Amino acid sequence: MNATTAAQAADIVAALLFIFSLAGLSQHHTARAGVAYGIGGMGLALAATVVVAARGISAGAIALILIATAIGGAVGLWRARKVEMTQMPELIAVLHSLVGLAAVLVGWNSYLGVEAHGAAQTEVAHDLLRIHHAEVFIGILIGAVTFTGSIVAFLKLSARIKSRPLTLPGKNALNVGALVAFVALTIWFTVSPGLGLMIAVTVLALALGWHLVASIGGGDMPVVVSMLNSYSGWAAAAAGFLLNNNLLIVTGALVGSSGAYLSFIMCKAMNRSFISVIAGGFGVEAAAGGDTEQGEHREISAEDGAELLTNATSVIITPGYGMAVAQAQHPVAELTRALRERGVDVRFGVHPVAGRLPGHMNVLLAEAKVPYDVVLEMDEINDDFAHTTVVLVIGANDTVNPAATDDPSSPIAGMPVLRVWEAENVIVFKRSMASGYAGVQNPLFFRDNTSMLFGDAKQSVEDILRALGPADSGPAAPRSGSRPAEQPAHA
Ligand code: NDP
Repeated sequence: MNATTAAQAADIVAALLFIFSLAGLSQHHTARAGVAYGIGGMGLALAATVVVAARGISAGAIALILIATAIGGAVGLWRARKVEMTQMPELIAVLHSLVGLAAVLVGWNSYLGVEAHGAAQTEVAHDLLRIHHAEVFIGILIGAVTFTGSIVAFLKLSARIKSRPLTLPGKNALNVGALVAFVALTIWFTVSPGLGLMIAVTVLALALGWHLVASIGGGDMPVVVSMLNSYSGWAAAAAGFLLNNNLLIVTGALVGSSGAYLSFIMCKAMNRSFISVIAGGFGVEAAAGGDTEQGEHREISAEDGAELLTNATSVIITPGYGMAVAQAQHPVAELTRALRERGVDVRFGVHPVAGRLPGHMNVLLAEAKVPYDVVLEMDEINDDFAHTTVVLVIGANDTVNPAATDDPSSPIAGMPVLRVWEAENVIVFKRSMASGYAGVQNPLFFRDNTSMLFGDAKQSVEDILRALGPADSGPAAPRSGSRPAEQPAHA
């Protein structure tokens, strides 16, 4: 078997490993195997690519490939080891932007290797040249949109820019106009390719990517992240066509279609229109809403919270992004054990977009060894809040915001949320009255049955645990004073 045939066989095995990887990653008990298949597939794909590339090039060029691979691998390993769980979506957005950038560079490289030399001096068959011209433009469009879109997503997710949607006048017309201009430029380029058109399409696509993602509000960012994941797959597939690399086409299509399906499922879970989100909020009017306070809130101390919990028959914990920031999952798991030992029925209600990446809360709770059977999805638990004594909202905000159901003018209107306010008592663990990721104030905080427990979530849960005392010590530690009412000092 010669090197090319061996590389082709390796490509097929790598493609199968990627399919096994996706299948493995779909369930938590097979996720580790899924990761292993993915690493194996990628290792094989890299080796096969280097073997094929090594034919007919100098030893110096091979050394450059190996050095670039080593540097890329080392940077990837370093970032992955250092990244906090809460920064994962930002890291993913940065990685997507690199795929987009690579696709743009492949497009430009293809142009420089084919179109820039004139039709006579290229290896591409004459009748396929027009297809090549179109491929270059399509690759650049998808790559550049992914590149700038992912950069905006990174800036929004890391709070370097506001998560509110950008609403330029006539934003939908701008997006449609950009697409029409792209089609016109592509036709022009297939007839008469040139450097000016290359620059024009690159600038146009970079601006379109920026505008599409900037126009989407904070609450819809989960869908944007999975949508950019899909775009990065299509960008890789487009690069595969230009490089004549079948594995890149197959892998890109796998990532592109699974990302698109994930976006579709998330849109359904969040009651959003798929088309509207991929079209940069098409058809969504700028919604009102802000983070101004809506009345007076009450505070509760950890000791009073502990007493409420000991006297409760049923407790539901709804964790959110703040639990991840505070790394409060371990004391939360301990609190769960302590309450269950006292005969309290404790369960968790997990919103599909709680935290900053799909499954974020499930991962944290599993890490803290909370039993799977008490961790329920939103749809499984939403009807039970009305029969619950106490709900502990630990670092969640948008995912428990009643404005989503009560206020049609809210930016998060229509998004299904955990109906925690139906419970007898709600205790909200957070540090201030600040709004959640979507930048919308939460009327839950001002309801009569809600009390705020201000402070870092980990510290507050530990304070409650301390006040509870050992399981056989009977009721909670004595109150440290009466509940202070109405102290809006934490605004
Ligand atoms: P939010 O982001 O709405 O709110 C988190 C709350 O946690 C804040 O109000 C903050 O209040 C509080 N908090 C932060 N740090 C701490 C701390 N150390 N201790 C206690 N509280 C803390 O959380 P949700 O999980 O409810 O909602 C997730 C949001 O993120 C949704 O809007 C979703 O659309 C979006 N999103 C989700 C993604 C996903 O895939 N899951 C991806 C991208 C975005 P304070 O500062 O006052 O403490």
